[in-house]
Amino acid sequence: MQLPDKVKIVEVGPRDGLQNESQAVSVDTKVQLIDQLARAGLQAIEVSSFVNPTRVPQLADAEEVFARIERRAGVCYSALVPNVTGLARALSSRVDEIAVFTAASETFCQRNIQCSIAESLARFEPVVRGARDVNLPVRAYISCVAGCPYEGPIEPGVVADLTTALLEMGAREVSLGDTIGVGTPGSIQALLDAVLTVADASRLAVHFHDTRGQALANILIALGSGISVVDSSVAGLGGCPYAKGATGNVATEDVVYMLDGMGIQTGVDLAALIEVGNFISNALGRDNASRVGRAGLPRRAEWTEH
Ligand code: MG
Repeated sequence: MQLPDKVKIVEVGPRDGLQNESQAVSVDTKVQLIDQLARAGLQAIEVSSFVNPTRVPQLADAEEVFARIERRAGVCYSALVPNVTGLARALSSRVDEIAVFTAASETFCQRNIQCSIAESLARFEPVVRGARDVNLPVRAYISCVAGCPYEGPIEPGVVADLTTALLEMGAREVSLGDTIGVGTPGSIQALLDAVLTVADASRLAVHFHDTRGQALANILIALGSGISVVDSSVAGLGGCPYAKGATGNVATEDVVYMLDGMGIQTGVDLAALIEVGNFISNALGRDNASRVGRAGLPRRAEWTEH
């Protein structure tokens, strides 16, 4: 298997993660989390979302968070933007990249953003155009790429067509999300084979959830397919809203541990990252959902005892 030498990790904990945690988090804690992630070496951090604050009150403090974080050189601080109002807010907060989102399932799209897939594309077309006018890179998320909680399995061809539409619209990168964590290396390989017939691997990222323990295996399939951008969430922040008590985003610590062990560079200091995961888990009063975070780095005794 041909694997990349370097992987870019997109840390989605502060936005995707915290948005799906039940507990409210203070601006202070969010700012500390983001600054600690950047100091641990994460070069792409999804900070917040400029969605309607009445719809997602957890992220109503987006402006304040952006105003207070320490901007480290070389770090891309991004935000989700659903419409042109959100784009204007994002621009005044000096975001480095925006993300738009749709789904590969009509039912999920309706329930999540109250419109059809086609309407979602029409809705954020002016957002993408507005961002491109000011040279702001745009990332596009497709959720439910491997399956939908309402519709079941999703045809890889649907995801490929949507990827084509998003890239043609002007997205720099499409992030393929297994939102409910149903994919396995078999179905993910079939999905990527289909998407890679329409898009170069350099334009794709994977966003896997570890709900059923498949995320690292699925990431390995993606790396073997030439994809080198992986979304993950420190401490596995962000439970799965469709399966109570289940894990959501794959934990950044677990991804970095695997990549370190394979000699694939991420630029992330794993020991520092584990501390960040423990910090936010304590702040939320929840268990750390990262296996590596819980176990810590291997101690010498573990290498010698059998
Ligand atoms: Mg996610």
